[in-house]
Amino acid sequence: MDSQVLPLFPKGARVNDSNHLEIGGIDVVQLAAEHGTPLYVFDEQTLRDQCRLFLQEFTTRYPSIRVLYASKAFLSRPIARIIAEEGLGLDVVSGGELAIAQSAKVPPGMVYFHGNNKSAEELRMAVRWNIGRVVVDNFHELDLLHTIAKEIKRVQPILLRISPGVDPHTHKHTTTGILDSKFGFALSNGQAEDAVQRAMAATNLDLKGLHIHLGSPIYETDPYREGIHVAMEFAAAMRQRHGLTLEEFSPGGGFPIQYTVGQPPPPLADHAQAITEAVSDCAKEHGLAQPLVTIEPGRAIVGRAGVALYTVGAIKDIPGVRKYVSVDGGMGDNIRPAIYGSRYEAMVAGRAISEDVETVTIAGKFCESGDVLIRDITLPKVTPGDVIAIPASGAYCLPMASNYNSTPRPAILLINDGHARVIRRRETFDDLMQWDVD
Ligand code: PLP
Repeated sequence: MDSQVLPLFPKGARVNDSNHLEIGGIDVVQLAAEHGTPLYVFDEQTLRDQCRLFLQEFTTRYPSIRVLYASKAFLSRPIARIIAEEGLGLDVVSGGELAIAQSAKVPPGMVYFHGNNKSAEELRMAVRWNIGRVVVDNFHELDLLHTIAKEIKRVQPILLRISPGVDPHTHKHTTTGILDSKFGFALSNGQAEDAVQRAMAATNLDLKGLHIHLGSPIYETDPYREGIHVAMEFAAAMRQRHGLTLEEFSPGGGFPIQYTVGQPPPPLADHAQAITEAVSDCAKEHGLAQPLVTIEPGRAIVGRAGVALYTVGAIKDIPGVRKYVSVDGGMGDNIRPAIYGSRYEAMVAGRAISEDVETVTIAGKFCESGDVLIRDITLPKVTPGDVIAIPASGAYCLPMASNYNSTPRPAILLINDGHARVIRRRETFDDLMQWDVD
């Protein structure tokens, strides 16, 4: 049996003889019955394969590559361990992500610390742990980190995040490399040059290189080429004017995944080719040595591995207008449609393929009109109790999950080799009240 949506699910997903969706050899209708819904399921093999694909596509094209998983996409200790086992490092953006990396025993040298407002406490935690790099975002942080590194008597390796003024044509909330952005030192107004001089003069900071991140997800390859050209031209000017040696350069993350049938991203090879070629060409053009290239994929590592499962409850038909099919999750576990207008596909997991279809809108259960997961999707006719599976749900859903409407957050399963294990248990009502002080 075949379905157009099937390739969006984890590798090896199939429709079995009962017309049910199967992931990693397990019937997801059974998983929903056993563990309840909403439920997030991750396929370990897909996750590992994506790590390997990134290493392969980049290391076969360029001599010196480091792949860091942007853990903001989804982090938990079991995931961090898998990522480290596959030879990837981690990009973290908070003391909490740093604590998880420490707890999962990720090698500190392979952890990079990002963020536009790292606190003194977070920076101290990072420096004491001998973190690989702090990616310095602004002048306040440059001074604060230098003071802390001196205090701890360590020379902290850093990158400077610069804002190259390149628009990657993605949602405005995820566009970060333009002048009017809270992230990074702008090139166009001289702040980036100032930062280079100040970093080079700081005795307890070791400026290894530059970082850019343009936005996410970036379907085209040209914004990367453009960003790299601008950044490396700047690096050459900084070498000439201030003696900067560009040992390392990062073009950031932003690699796309397939969310909908109609918008397939180009193969990763295209992005890998564009990035490595642009760095090599620019290095040659400006007479620079080829720097270590660090890439930071988040979504592209975990996105496809994750599937969200919901159960249908109320169905409201407004004849001639719309049919709302409400499920037992929504913006509390996936806020992306509400804040980014993100589009998803879905499958009725227990009736995967059927000729008897209708167009419905899948609404969440949270008390907001904007809590709609998928507007106007054609699905086999659904009835209360059906399990709806949404593919490509592994990235930026759970880390942004909330307890809105005092709703416990979902359980998470990791599937491997026909076995499913709980890697985060479902929250309970007692969990919701445990922080209250009477
Ligand atoms: N690197 C930085 C600095 C980011 O801000 C982000 C995402 O916001 C990423 C990497 C990861 O982006 P993506 O998950 O699209 O690969």
